[in-house]
Amino acid sequence: MEQVAPLKFARFVCLTLALSAVAPHVSAQFHLQFDPGQRIWSMENSVVRAVFQLTEQGMFEFRSLTDIGSGNIWAPPPNYRSSPIRFRLQEANFDEHTAYRLVRQAAAAAPRRSYRQSIELEDLRGYGRVLLELEMFEKQPVLRYRIRFQNLRPQAVRMLDADMAAWSFDDRGKAFRAFYVNQWVHGGANGNFEPIPRTLAGTGAPVQLFTGAYGQHCTWLALRDEQDRGLFAGWEFDGRANAILRRYESGSRVDLSAPIQELGRPLAANGTFQIPAAFLGVFQGDWDEAGYRTQRFAEAALTRDLPGGNFPWIVWDSWMYRTDIDEPTLRRNAEIAASLGAEVFVVDLGWARQIGDWRADPVKFPSGLRALSDYVHSLGMKFGLHLPLAEAAATAPVLRNNPDWTSSQSYGYFSAESLCLSHRPVRNWIAGEITRLIDDFQLDWILQDGENMVKRCTKTTHTHDPQDSNYSNAVDGLNWVVQTMLTRRPAVHWENCEDGGNMMTFNMVRNYVTSIAADDSGPMTTRQAIYGITYPFPPRYSDRYMPDEELDTYKTRSYMFGGPWILMNRLAQMRPEDLELLKSEIALYKTLRERIRDGKVYHLSARPAENRIDALQSHHQETDTSVILAFRPTAAANAYRARPKGLKPERSYRVRFQDDRRLLTMTGAQIMEGGIRINLPGMWTAEFAYIEPIAN
Ligand SMILES: [Zn+2]
Repeated sequence: MEQVAPLKFARFVCLTLALSAVAPHVSAQFHLQFDPGQRIWSMENSVVRAVFQLTEQGMFEFRSLTDIGSGNIWAPPPNYRSSPIRFRLQEANFDEHTAYRLVRQAAAAAPRRSYRQSIELEDLRGYGRVLLELEMFEKQPVLRYRIRFQNLRPQAVRMLDADMAAWSFDDRGKAFRAFYVNQWVHGGANGNFEPIPRTLAGTGAPVQLFTGAYGQHCTWLALRDEQDRGLFAGWEFDGRANAILRRYESGSRVDLSAPIQELGRPLAANGTFQIPAAFLGVFQGDWDEAGYRTQRFAEAALTRDLPGGNFPWIVWDSWMYRTDIDEPTLRRNAEIAASLGAEVFVVDLGWARQIGDWRADPVKFPSGLRALSDYVHSLGMKFGLHLPLAEAAATAPVLRNNPDWTSSQSYGYFSAESLCLSHRPVRNWIAGEITRLIDDFQLDWILQDGENMVKRCTKTTHTHDPQDSNYSNAVDGLNWVVQTMLTRRPAVHWENCEDGGNMMTFNMVRNYVTSIAADDSGPMTTRQAIYGITYPFPPRYSDRYMPDEELDTYKTRSYMFGGPWILMNRLAQMRPEDLELLKSEIALYKTLRERIRDGKVYHLSARPAENRIDALQSHHQETDTSVILAFRPTAAANAYRARPKGLKPERSYRVRFQDDRRLLTMTGAQIMEGGIRINLPGMWTAEFAYIEPIAN
């Protein structure tokens, strides 16, 4: 059941809530006000307040967003109009200059302890209706919003532009820095979650992000002024978009926009278009704080539910065998994986007859894949399959029978053709195939893969419009397939992957329980990926694939921070001492995983590099405990002075280490100001430091 938070309201017109929603014990203080005279909406949840107005002239304008804790107010410059509604039909623009009449407005409790303010407008030219939905969640300093347009013309119109983040703010004469993060791009060569800080020029020179599947950056950015007053924004769209940040010193203005790329969506009479949802949050502090506020909001408001209380899990994946897998090999690995403490067993690429022919290879699996699944289940593990669902070999039956099902651009995933998921026969076929796979093989887990999950397709022979490739392949294609499967078979958990984390969006977190970060790579590349991805995304959306087979704790611990730890080791050929180490390291991981999942990430060091020590801290606010993971690659120094953050200065803490026998008692102030020394006696060593409060 969805939980519904109680509402406290001051003055409220057109209230549509049932009175039963107003509980006497108000823990979550939502205030929603509508002033019908001035047509001003004010919405607040005790940490943030947003104000909008439908002016006398009929323009719908953003008035302010207030960080209640710090008192920071974000508003457009005086006498400057800013409207969150910005899209363009071929026939007309909708923006801060458009005049509307108010059709209706209402507020209601919504899922996940939120309240939703709906405002329906009709433009005075009579093109259509705009439904703006504003949402706030309990204790989250974030406004989430989405816009839907309905065509009221008797003929079709075409949507050519839609902005997911149309905001302008007064810069108050301050300089601004922006911060955003790469995805995993082209096997890591063009992007491995590098954080990118930029100073906004005062000239209006743009800072640009290219986001979505096959894009360069995650769908997130943060912005802060010289006094660390900050904003962050994210958008929930898997297709490609360009985000643009500009500062105009002369106009004392910062502009943000995030238009969908290559939009050309036809809307029939009465047809509707949903602009993907997005969010805007406030923070005071550094980029770690921006990230933490984003992550807590995402977990509260957006993410797919945790698949289990002890998530993230230990997963075994067959990829180190490449496609050279068979039933006896996998059975042997399953036995060892289970004995080590693995919780999910995934058969990677190579289980099927060929890509797109989703029947188990009868030579590799003479007893059938169901027999292997049953065996894995009998060992107490979940069973998963790798599935590049939008790819098919040219010789696969699906393409022999339907050669036109390919997208107009092919991406060459293991030489396969790409399929157009927004062509209805294709998506219906793959949904049927996935349903059959889940049922026949009793799947618990699907590892999605492929090359670019949002294909480009301009074919005129498909059910989508040829000018509507990007949006339709994302929303009507991939999202439809995954959503359909999550509805049909809700117990099956999906992992996001497309040759690595290359669709790092805030729509992705709604559908998948985790995501790959770096693809199959070594400890350094992996730690670099985790360093960057843990700014925008909750730690569980960063799983790590460990290929190493001769192990030491530098290697094993390089894969411990974040989401599922995925072992690709060929267990059946590993040395007993490596298996023994792996078993004890898995047990160690299990003591940390939930705390890191829910903790605040402090990026204590610079991004990992071979010649320096790197360290991440996870601070769990409820228990006020921290763990620091420190790594020495080929750095010369044999110790690292960590300066942990987030502790209570007056409180006494015990500091202990994973390997070092020292035991320290220090106040929070001593730890944060003087730091603690973490010994890393050799190259390629790793050490964990634990900071725990001493009970009075
Ligand atoms: Zn197509």
